[in-house]
Amino acid sequence: MTATTLYAPLQTASRLDRLRQALDRDHLPALMVTGRSNVRYLTGFTGSAGLLLVFADHAVLVTDGRYATQADEQLEASGVTASARIAAAVEQGRVVGEVVAAAGPGRLGLEAAQISWAQHRQVTEEWVPGVEVVATIGVVEALRRVKDPGEVDRITAAATIADAALAAVRPLLEDRCTEQEFALALDTEMRRQGAQGPSFPTICASGPNAAKPHHRPSPRPIDPGEAVVVDFGAVVDGYCSDMTRTVWVGELSDPDLRRAVQVVAASQAAGVAAVAAGVACQDVDRACREVIGDAGWGAAFVHGTGHGVGLDIHEAPAVSATSADTLAEGHVVTVEPGVYLPGIGGVRIEDTLVVTERGSRTLTSTPKELL
Ligand code: ZN
Ligand code: ZN
Repeated sequence: MTATTLYAPLQTASRLDRLRQALDRDHLPALMVTGRSNVRYLTGFTGSAGLLLVFADHAVLVTDGRYATQADEQLEASGVTASARIAAAVEQGRVVGEVVAAAGPGRLGLEAAQISWAQHRQVTEEWVPGVEVVATIGVVEALRRVKDPGEVDRITAAATIADAALAAVRPLLEDRCTEQEFALALDTEMRRQGAQGPSFPTICASGPNAAKPHHRPSPRPIDPGEAVVVDFGAVVDGYCSDMTRTVWVGELSDPDLRRAVQVVAASQAAGVAAVAAGVACQDVDRACREVIGDAGWGAAFVHGTGHGVGLDIHEAPAVSATSADTLAEGHVVTVEPGVYLPGIGGVRIEDTLVVTERGSRTLTSTPKELL
């Protein structure tokens, strides 16, 4: 049995038509998709290079000879109606020009957040010089917010692997291992249990290092009584999980940290309780921030409350004080408040949740206090 048969099928084949409806609303006859995760979402193609031209009645995936067989196989396996054109990187501009000229859309959208300044100039000046090129932002990303059951299955599987990996390597902390050793053991264990890899570089921050939210693991040995922030996730069939636990050996030695663990746990629980379809992301952020503010540590919660998770580890919607997004059923988001005390340490607790009509279902299940 292949891994993917364990999960509900991805509804990849229907996504191009959902995109066309969105493009119609924007009166856009064609879109050149260059974001890798966006290309994958729409076609199932997982190659490291390729772009997708979407028109009202057809779509063309342009990639290079390394992916000739794979492109055909993956388009067919996904049931996607699109053809593949294979061309060396230096020839792709000419191919795109031909395909666009044949379709004659007049206007072509580019993904502004997924293309460099240099690429934009090349497209407008060399690839499609007679075509009006317009910037689009977040069109495919908006479709990606609501996960289909197959996507939720894959994120759940990634979260389950991460839970099992942390449980398996947790005893290393008792042996005064270093941050790097712990992170490596976690990454190895996730792969051993079937993950394609970590969903981002694993964070293991101990003692005063835990005051830095995105500390990179160092050769520092982890001592009993220190708070250790472990933030990590797995990738399964392209889908990410994300979880943070603050763990320690013995008794936390610093009284502020002992209190911070309680405060952050209460804040995180308040955020999770606020999550439901129809709730503004701002309100989830506020629920977390109020608890930490009431404890006098408002200024020590230095980042947003959470983010969407899917093919990318950070995707829409944003769960922050300035977010204009509203949660909907099928969104997968994190809730991850933290308190960071320079020179002392830090505490962060994070779960990945799928939003339901009335609330949420938590996909990451490691207990909050691993004593
Ligand atoms: Zn995380
Ligand atoms: Zn996160």
